[in-house]
Amino acid sequence: MKRDTGQNRSITAKWRPATRAVRAGTWRSEQGETSEALFVTSGYSYDDAHTPAARFAGQEAGMTYSRTQNPTVQMLEERIAMLEGAEACRVQASGMAAMTASMLCQLSAGDHMVIAQAAFGPTRWVTDNLLPRFGIEVTPVDGRDLDAWQTAIRPNTRVFFFETPANPTMDLVDIAAVCTLAREHGITSVVDNAFATAALQRPLEFGADVVAYAATKLMDGQGRVLAGAVCGSAAFINDKLLPFQRNTGPTLSPFNAWVVLKGLETLDLRAHRQADNALVVARFLEGRVPRILHPGLASHPQHDLATRQMIKPGSIFSFEIEGGRTAAHGLLDALELIDISNNIGDAKTLMTHPASTTHSSLAPEVRETMGVSEGMLRISVGLEDPQDLVEDLDQALKAVGL
Ligand SMILES: *Cc1c(COP(=O)(O)O)cnc(C)c1O
Repeated sequence: MKRDTGQNRSITAKWRPATRAVRAGTWRSEQGETSEALFVTSGYSYDDAHTPAARFAGQEAGMTYSRTQNPTVQMLEERIAMLEGAEACRVQASGMAAMTASMLCQLSAGDHMVIAQAAFGPTRWVTDNLLPRFGIEVTPVDGRDLDAWQTAIRPNTRVFFFETPANPTMDLVDIAAVCTLAREHGITSVVDNAFATAALQRPLEFGADVVAYAATKLMDGQGRVLAGAVCGSAAFINDKLLPFQRNTGPTLSPFNAWVVLKGLETLDLRAHRQADNALVVARFLEGRVPRILHPGLASHPQHDLATRQMIKPGSIFSFEIEGGRTAAHGLLDALELIDISNNIGDAKTLMTHPASTTHSSLAPEVRETMGVSEGMLRISVGLEDPQDLVEDLDQALKAVGL
């Protein structure tokens, strides 16, 4: 195709991120379709016997089987890689498939890794329960404390893993400081960037080696499909991640890849508008509730760091109300517009009570040390008119006497 520029890196590399999110990776069939084609196929046929032999031998590019490659999935991988500014990307069936693959593909028995303790629940299950079964030791640290990262390093430390901002306390990790420390010790840093996405935060520019995603969240952005992605150097993706992925099979379906491709076309718009809406809602709540955790507010203990490393502080934040679990559940039950949901990154505004949902499997003392109190609520602000969200929260607060 004459104007099939989406796969041409010498052209896409010149584009700014918002343009890459719409066009990078696009590959057109001979029909010249404007919207990316959906290739629902598990296998491929060949004109002659030599072709598959050459492809299996790695001498010729081309599809062999959809566990390894699929045109729709490849378009998504190229688009995410370009958006992130990474040499390469591979997508997975869910965010957790991405997190698990990013760790297991590079760790062996006898290795050690360090994780910021404020991490997504299933990520902590993998590091606390799964990895030790295979002889991999994990040290959780307070991700905000650079000395804690330094002290945790051992001769066999291979990986630093963290989320920033982290769920639901909105703790930040200083990406540049922690990733520089990792580099100095030959440790690979992996950042779960699901809360911000490349539209709002670019960890590679601050020295991260690998960026992992739940594309389920803001990348899809409309609460439809599960998807994950791992971005990094070509050497990391092709030599470490790909052999693990193609042989263990956490493959993303072409349909889900297609949905995320469509989601990425509006990512920049949505991420910025949702972040702006979140700030409107946060400013209203700031005068109404005893504690609010939003990195965009001057009251957040790491507000300066948020300003340094985030383009905008994101669409998810938490706050506390008086009256513990009873009041928190009462407020959720009184909502008329905002949905009660533990999902995030949707066009619809969603709210959850972490202590009784996402963090319910942790012991109450562990929740307390993490700062997840009984009166804490987390909100993922969507694309509605923020004034309607403010009015809904106002009436719900009044309904519980606040
Ligand atoms: C949702 C989420 C995940 C897991 O993604 P799934 O697609 O649900 O498997 C991992 N990390 C963070 C920060 C998340 O929000």
